[in-house]
Amino acid sequence: MKTKTMTVVGAGLCGTLLALRLAQRGYQVQLFEKLPDMRTTELGAGRSINLALSDRGFKALRMVGLEDEIREVVIPMHGRLIHKLDGEQWLSPYSGREHEYINSVSRPGLNIALLNAAETFDNIDIHFRHKCLGVDLDSGTVRFARADRKEMIVEADYVFGTDGAGSAVRRSIFARSAELRFDYAQDFLDHGYKELTIPPAAGGGWRIEKNALHIWPRQDYMLIALPNLDGSFTVTLFLAFDGEPGFNQLTDGAKVRAFFNDVFPTAAAHMPGLVEEFFDNPTGILGTIKCYPWFAGKALLMGDAAHAIVPFYGQGMNCALEDVWCLDQLLDQHGEDWDTVLDAYQAGRKQDTDAIADLALENYYEMRDHVDNPDFRLKRQLEMQLEATYPDYSSKYNLVTFNEDIPYSEALLRGHAQDAYLLDLCRGKKSVAEIDLEALFRQLRQLIR
Ligand code: FAD
Repeated sequence: MKTKTMTVVGAGLCGTLLALRLAQRGYQVQLFEKLPDMRTTELGAGRSINLALSDRGFKALRMVGLEDEIREVVIPMHGRLIHKLDGEQWLSPYSGREHEYINSVSRPGLNIALLNAAETFDNIDIHFRHKCLGVDLDSGTVRFARADRKEMIVEADYVFGTDGAGSAVRRSIFARSAELRFDYAQDFLDHGYKELTIPPAAGGGWRIEKNALHIWPRQDYMLIALPNLDGSFTVTLFLAFDGEPGFNQLTDGAKVRAFFNDVFPTAAAHMPGLVEEFFDNPTGILGTIKCYPWFAGKALLMGDAAHAIVPFYGQGMNCALEDVWCLDQLLDQHGEDWDTVLDAYQAGRKQDTDAIADLALENYYEMRDHVDNPDFRLKRQLEMQLEATYPDYSSKYNLVTFNEDIPYSEALLRGHAQDAYLLDLCRGKKSVAEIDLEALFRQLRQLIR
């Protein structure tokens, strides 16, 4: 057993995975969470009930021995099923190769699997209903408010802030911004989101295609749906707060029902509880947070606490889980020299989390505005054919989602170069048959060399 003690603040996906990995490595770990234990308490409607899990997330789960268990409880989604206003629908596959797809996973289900695994270690203590109030960066002491309203101080060799986008640990670093030259930028979207449900079919099963991520793109707003194991879908409306249509204008049941019947009729037909849920469930905000340094005194920020991103690439959780994998690689390299490990971690990881933040914003516009555009559709068909024909070719989406060994920053550079070339080529063309695939593949290889 190692002598160093570690405090992890936030038992979400990143924090619980980190605590588990540190325990596997023999450290004394204390994991603190402000909410009650989700295994014994029903937590209210909140943020994204299910998530798209892909290769980077699986890589991190493999590291702690949980990959197989989680693969048993995911639903593969092979592509985006696009629903047009006139009822026409078409599938845009995520890849031209059959074995590459993303997976719908239950957020609480995954978090519970991580907590259960963590709890099997004697060297982890998990404390629920402990809200972090602040960190003394120099001493590594963290102040918590307990459920009984008493305060508690915990000291450790290192403190990990995995307490999400509203991080209290980050606030303690921010409080010393000038001294630490702490850069901080927070950009909100004009759009928010609301979660709704398509319930299971009457006799059980899924009312719409199970193995797809459904999208109803409508230029300035969109609806998406991901399948759950019980036959339901978690539906998310992304819509501006202001203007028409906008969340602020959908003020009564009649307006909500009329809006959905008008612009999402094929989804609304499956949503009997729409109006009730619309007013019961919170409207979430969306934004990007970039900050640096992440390592200050004895504290390190990880996951959304260090780099919250908009959800349009389905990578926030995958990135947060990959953070732990990256740190783990550096522990292999530098051993017990923690200051070196944490310095190397932030220096190496920052460009990748910036890249996925930018890619996620780009995908926001792509999903809303371009998925149904003829040039874009042709480009996707071309990418599918390239992927099906050449094992060495990967589109930008593929590089980000299915290439766990390629850092996000490299995926962005290669992806952008390929995208620009292919879109240019597709302009004015009607079909993939007009393009010499072999010649194109050779040109693309030159381009990214
Ligand atoms: P969090 O999940 O936010 O966990 C932080 C934990 O810290 C929580 O348990 C919280 O209760 C606790 N905490 C907070 N403050 C304190 C405190 N003061 N003291 C103690 N504990 C505290 N990502 C994907 O990869 N795929 C997707 O499909 C996807 N879809 C998304 C859809 C939506 C609508 C949204 C909003 C996000 C989506 N994401 C997705 C992103 C993903 O949810 C986050 O990136 C991921 O949850 C980050 O994990 P985390 O552990 O860093 O933070």
